[in-house]
Amino acid sequence: MEIGFIGLGNMGAPMARRLIDAGHKLVVFDVRAEAAAALGASGAALATSPRDVADRVEIVMASLPSPAIAKEVALGMDGVIHGRRVKRFVDLSTTGSRVAAEIFAALAARRIVQIDSPVSGGVAGARKGTLAVMVSGPPADVAAVRDLLAIFGRVFVVSDKPGMAQTMKLANNFLSATAMAATAEAVAMGVKAGLDAAVMIDVINAGSGRTTASDGKFPQAVLPRTFDYGFATALMLKDVRLCAEEASALGVPDKIMRAVLDQWEITNSEYGGECDFTNIVKMIEKRAGIIIGGKQ
Ligand code: NAD
Repeated sequence: MEIGFIGLGNMGAPMARRLIDAGHKLVVFDVRAEAAAALGASGAALATSPRDVADRVEIVMASLPSPAIAKEVALGMDGVIHGRRVKRFVDLSTTGSRVAAEIFAALAARRIVQIDSPVSGGVAGARKGTLAVMVSGPPADVAAVRDLLAIFGRVFVVSDKPGMAQTMKLANNFLSATAMAATAEAVAMGVKAGLDAAVMIDVINAGSGRTTASDGKFPQAVLPRTFDYGFATALMLKDVRLCAEEASALGVPDKIMRAVLDQWEITNSEYGGECDFTNIVKMIEKRAGIIIGGKQ
């Protein structure tokens, strides 16, 4: 099948590569020419804009860093909306339900169906094809792309209402963000009292405190002090902010969301949005006056 892919970053590049490996022909675009060229070297055709991609294929996928960029790529002057061939726009980005519904409505006016399909499971999951792929959209259109999405991981069709997969994704990422922020505080407390961080992580992983922070992020990127898990602080901040806004708009208590949001706002302002989100640990270490390392 011919598929367009826009946004070839930490997640988009490995997902696009999996489509090529599964035998599909890709037409790709990224504002970073080097990101597109890397896929070109694996056989993808290079497009000059989102509109150019949408002129050339019926299914266009996107993995973009922010709601504003997703909107621009979908609906902007050079956007997918102006493409001559496109019939379905599969948005794999995390944008929040409001923006997803806005894109759906604007594209629907041009008879293009937006399928909302955020993913979870990180860069490793994108490489291995083990992502949780959350999908909402019109059933016939979801059915038409389901086999393609299954190349990325396990597909969960959560609703036929546009944007609902975003709500699902925000709930998931809030829990992931909370686990990371809370584990940083818990381990800092132990280390300051005299415990070894690696021993603490082993105990937590054998006990009831185990989370994706303790069994993934800490052993892989915090204890070895590489802080390179593959997800930018600005993106985590965006996700927690979108989640808190969505909860507040629905009239749902959001105290924990606001507290976690604060921690990512501080990390973002002190270490920069580009830095890996595991840098939240450095922010806590600085305040605690300790360093969380491996076995001493
Ligand atoms: P990233 O910043 O690594 O990649 C985004 C890509 O989009 C970059 O290559 C960038 O050059 C490109 N881009 C930016 N503006 C563009 C434009 N106008 N037109 C075309 N390309 C453009 O981000 P990522 O980590 O790959 O995340 C992508 C999306 O997936 C985000 O919405 C994020 O929240 C979500 N997500 C990320 C992870 C993760 O672990 N990294 C996990 C799940 C979901």
